[in-house]
Amino acid sequence: MLNERPSIYTRYVPSLIVEASERPSYWFVYRAGTDKLLLGENPGLDAIPAAARAEELGFAPSRSLYLGTLDGAPCYAAEAPEDALVPAGTEFLSLRSLYEIMDEDLFHLAGRALQLLSWDSTHRFCGRCGTTLERAANDHSKVCPNCGLSHYPRIAPAVITAILKDGQILLARAPHFPNNMHGLIAGFAEPGETLEDCVRRETMEEVGLTLGEIRYFGSQQWPFPHSLMIGFVAEYAGGEIAVDGEEIEHAAWFGPDNLPNIPPKLSIARKIIDWYAEEYGGRSGASS
Ligand SMILES: [Zn+2]
Repeated sequence: MLNERPSIYTRYVPSLIVEASERPSYWFVYRAGTDKLLLGENPGLDAIPAAARAEELGFAPSRSLYLGTLDGAPCYAAEAPEDALVPAGTEFLSLRSLYEIMDEDLFHLAGRALQLLSWDSTHRFCGRCGTTLERAANDHSKVCPNCGLSHYPRIAPAVITAILKDGQILLARAPHFPNNMHGLIAGFAEPGETLEDCVRRETMEEVGLTLGEIRYFGSQQWPFPHSLMIGFVAEYAGGEIAVDGEEIEHAAWFGPDNLPNIPPKLSIARKIIDWYAEEYGGRSGASS
């Protein structure tokens, strides 16, 4: 049932303190103000440009920060100025376009780099008194030297839910989905609600159904721009499907053998749907 992906921390050691290393560093470089990551042609980690110092990449980063080590190699996040020339043999590619292609640990570390750079560039001043913020020594927060207020990187939790009824799964289509794709019910948590409350509210708002038991599935960071997707599987309790017509334009029950076009691999929506298809496939009308 649970998402059994190995932890990234079997390979990645986060740290704020640079330690001496014999190995060249990997640079997760983004074009300023975009999600475009600098990549070479090699597969895996070797696609990330390696250099002892940022200047060897051919430009001076407009901001950079240390991420820790991956497979023992130091890793940095850096922002390339908008007019930086692309080093020979490399190109900037949207991280979003890489999420079916890239090693999952690498995608997540690249996502961490993108979120930290983005937050650093959009949270430069104290929200209370306007003073320029300073980076904290012990974590990725910033501190106001005038009033002392701490500022932490933004993470927006969002739930994503498979709803099951008599061995069928509810799949829904948002107006912006390409190619008649159907996915799961999803939405951002609001102040004052639990994640389970959020699942029930979003389900009622988008498709007009009430839910019984809600079980945790797993989670996934989604750095566009700063979401944390929390996956659930819920039992249908009551109501008839009534789409809201705005966030959802069509929703229906599907069996494991007649699924419509579904979200691409690596997305947590797809992982939940794949789990459902494996769990309920071949049961011929299973219900208890
Ligand atoms: Zn302040």
